[in-house]
Amino acid sequence: MTPFEIIFWMALLAEIIIRAPVNLRRKHEKFTRPNKAILDSILFGLLSLGMFILPLIYCLTPWLDFANYSLPAFTGWAGALIIAGAVAVFWRAHVDLGANWSPTLETREKHELITLGIYAFIRHPMYTSQWLWSVAQALLLPNWLAGALNLLIWTVFYTLRVGAEEKMMLAAFGPAYEVYMKRTGRVFLRIS
Ligand code: SAH
Repeated sequence: MTPFEIIFWMALLAEIIIRAPVNLRRKHEKFTRPNKAILDSILFGLLSLGMFILPLIYCLTPWLDFANYSLPAFTGWAGALIIAGAVAVFWRAHVDLGANWSPTLETREKHELITLGIYAFIRHPMYTSQWLWSVAQALLLPNWLAGALNLLIWTVFYTLRVGAEEKMMLAAFGPAYEVYMKRTGRVFLRIS
């Protein structure tokens, strides 16, 4: 394994550890689901293919070598910095969102609108983190299937999800979310 592959797997392990407590806690909670879950399952399947299964095949076998591309060495180190940023934002967002996190679009019985911490600046820091991750992955794993494909998968996931999520939040929190939208950026810091 290259140092960049090791960095990729360490970052993935870090995200699994960060998410584990909310994932476990969630199993005891009641959620209402306004959205169909089938599309979500397909999207999550694609995301785990792009983020885990293809990288695993790439790192353990030569099967995907036909799809390699070559990059100068410094882009690998740039990828390492970017993935560290992705994990940091992911961690901060989990601290701030706490038990309000859910894998699919759902609101809890006693859902709280979080507007503090990193959520005071960006409405979707976990998605910011995933954008950073996807760019970093294409730099750390220079292969069209194991690296770059996840960027495409994430673009589809994000495009289908973010608008629907904001619609759901507007339906749940009304004017409070409208005000919140006006003073925050979607995935980038709002400079005003
Ligand atoms: N889009 C957010 C959260 C992803 S988890 C991010 O990128 O950080 C998805 C769930 O988070 C949604 O089902 C919704 O219930 C919840 N959620 C999203 N924004 C929220 C907010 N500001 N406060 C509370 N819950 C929120």
